[in-house]
Parts: sequence; C-alpha cells; structure tokens
Amino acid sequence: METSSREIIRCTRCRLQQYMTQTQRCRRCSGDLLPPPPPPEPTGPETVTASNLMASRLRLVRRCRHFSQPELAERAQVSQQFISVMERGRSRVTLETLERYARALNLPLHVLFAPAPQFERYLQKQGMV
Ligand SMILES: [Zn+2]
Repeated sequence: METSSREIIRCTRCRLQQYMTQTQRCRRCSGDLLPPPPPPEPTGPETVTASNLMASRLRLVRRCRHFSQPELAERAQVSQQFISVMERGRSRVTLETLERYARALNLPLHVLFAPAPQFERYLQKQGMV
C-alpha cells in the first residue's frame, strides 16, 4: 500500500476530512483535495528596468550577429540556460560576466547602456539594422 496516498487531508470545498484519494478528488463533493495553486504574482505594467533594457539589447545584438544561444554560450563561456534567463531580463549578472558576454558579442559595454538613439546609431554603423 502506498503510504503517500494515506495522507489525511481536508476538502477545501466541503471541509470533509478524509484520506487522500487516488483521483485527488473529494469523496463527498468531488472537489479538488489539493490546495489550489497560489495565484500568480501580481505584475504591474511592464516597466523598463535596467535588466529588461539590457536583456532586449543583448538579444537583439546576438540575433544581428547571427549567433544562436548555444554558440554564444560557448563564446562567452556561460551556460545556454544562463543566456536564456539573461535574455528574459531575469538574471542577476555580475559585471564580470556581463563584460565577457559583451565581448563575445563584439559589443562595447558602454553601448549596452547608451541612450536609445546612440544604441541605434551603433547598430546602424555596424550594419545590423
Ligand atoms: Zn468535499
């Protein structure tokens, strides 16, 4: 007998205490016995943060240079997972890694943080747009 299925749990709908069922539904009301998943984190309007801005620029330059994520990962000596997280603006990156990353892209670090018009001029000069 599975011990895990003998866990006593209270139905969130009708409050009946019971052993966990195979179907994970209440014996009485067939409501879900497992607690509902936590609500998604509240998200405000998308704000342009430094990491979002950086993420979108890094992704743009990578594509312009025709590097795939694995190719860039190898050049920058980071994991591909890291690049994917980074390009979603979800990474806390050290300056050292960022520098290596930018170098792998042949992208001067200051351009990454330059005001938008300057960044776009850079792309144009590089023939990237
Ligand atoms: Zn119930």
